[in-house]
Amino acid sequence: MGIDEKTKAAAWQQIRQFGDPVLKEESRLAKPGVDMRQLAERMIKIMYAADGVGLAAPQIGILQKIIVFRFGKDEPKVLLNPEVTWRSEEVITEPEGCLSLANLAVDVPRAASIKVKGQDLDGEEHEYELEGLQARILQHEIDHLNGVMINSRTSREQRKDLMARLRQVKLPGER
Ligand code: ZN
Repeated sequence: MGIDEKTKAAAWQQIRQFGDPVLKEESRLAKPGVDMRQLAERMIKIMYAADGVGLAAPQIGILQKIIVFRFGKDEPKVLLNPEVTWRSEEVITEPEGCLSLANLAVDVPRAASIKVKGQDLDGEEHEYELEGLQARILQHEIDHLNGVMINSRTSREQRKDLMARLRQVKLPGER
């Protein structure tokens, strides 16, 4: 599925970037319902158009505990009020990007496996055990709901380098 440049630029315009105070806020509990379903649909569209693998509501300026994500070619998924209930002692450090950091990546240590619980859009409780990239995506998106981003999870050197790269980068559609 090709995404045209206009759609891509329009999606990127809606994604709050580093420095926006909303990204440092803690989100409120999300209530299932029509509004939440519409929000999820909007977030999924933005995630695909920006070619991301996950998106948290604060990234579009909405302080509600809702995340959308996708694993490979699977259908996109939505979780309300997700929480990590268990994490493995084993930690893996790998490059990780963020749409709110212009998709730039830094090395981030994450638990290799986690258990996550949350609700779907009907309010049903689910618990998942995830590992590898899937565990990484969920830890990243849940961080956003707590106002935490990868710049505060990487080394001092990489943070400095990230800030320098951020000053140079242009978002899709920017001149
Ligand atoms: Zn992010």
